[in-house]
Amino acid sequence: MAYQPDYPFPRLEDGQTLEVADGVHWIRMPLPFALDHINLWLLADGDGWTVIDTGYNSAATRDIWKQVLDGIAGGGAPARVICSHFHPDHMGLAGWFAAEFGASLWMTYSEWLQAHLARSRQLTHDFKRWDEFFVENGASAQNTDGFRTFLSRLDEPWYSIPQTVRRIRDGEDILIGDHTWRVITGGGHTHEHASLWCAGRDILISGDQILPRITSNISLWYTEPEGDPLGDYLESFAKFGAISDRTLVLPSHGYPFRGVHGRIGELRDHHEARLETALAVCAEPRTADEVIPFLFDRDIGPDDYSFAIGETLAHLNRLVSAGRLERRRSADGLIRYRRP
Ligand SMILES: [Zn+2]
Repeated sequence: MAYQPDYPFPRLEDGQTLEVADGVHWIRMPLPFALDHINLWLLADGDGWTVIDTGYNSAATRDIWKQVLDGIAGGGAPARVICSHFHPDHMGLAGWFAAEFGASLWMTYSEWLQAHLARSRQLTHDFKRWDEFFVENGASAQNTDGFRTFLSRLDEPWYSIPQTVRRIRDGEDILIGDHTWRVITGGGHTHEHASLWCAGRDILISGDQILPRITSNISLWYTEPEGDPLGDYLESFAKFGAISDRTLVLPSHGYPFRGVHGRIGELRDHHEARLETALAVCAEPRTADEVIPFLFDRDIGPDDYSFAIGETLAHLNRLVSAGRLERRRSADGLIRYRRP
């Protein structure tokens, strides 16, 4: 039978909250993107509060947070912010919580570093390098322009990035209130994404590592052309093996659900099917650009292009790491993937 997740809660509107377990509040926060919302979590923590992920840096998000804190926390100040990873929808207000409430930032070290790097724009906004990367993988000029437009639209996605961090590590137990939450790190979506698992209460705050309906973006960047993010991502699933299937999963996008192992199986199948398709398409040497239409069943316009080619390259490089394809530069300067 096909996997059927159990969604135990009603739909929330933007800015609404719901207590999904004793002292665990779900906040549905709007986002100014195609992906139009993110789920954030406010946890009772003794006399205070811990915030898990912060939302994007915008006046609208900050206003909603003030209302939520007035309503739920009775104006109480969160002492701690734990961020799953550096992406601005998750970490955009970490600096605001520090400035406004004196909250300390807890996150993995490489995600914190990545946030500083991203905010400096040194690598993300080097469009010459991005263009070279897209072009050598077969892109046309129209598509590289789309990516530049996309990035230039992001204004100040992070309020600021705190200059100090309380580093969290894989396997570490964090006490929030009376309950212990274990850090489970995983790669693929970002380098050291942290999920939090409370075994005693059967709750998993999965972040972007496991999402119920959409798949996490797993993309290759120009900065690591031989990387294997999809390999890192698939490998991370084993770390969720000990979690009970009764567990309430609190994802960053979509709805809280039960049935984590069914969903992991579905995600694995989804990527395996794409890997087989990519392998078949590369019976003759292909650029990543040529493989895109075989992996996506919708038209990819300039706005989506960087995601589409990044995801396609992640699949192709997985096949290279597995010894099933070779990645070689042809005489025309383009990188093509072929059977060994
Ligand atoms: Zn993310």
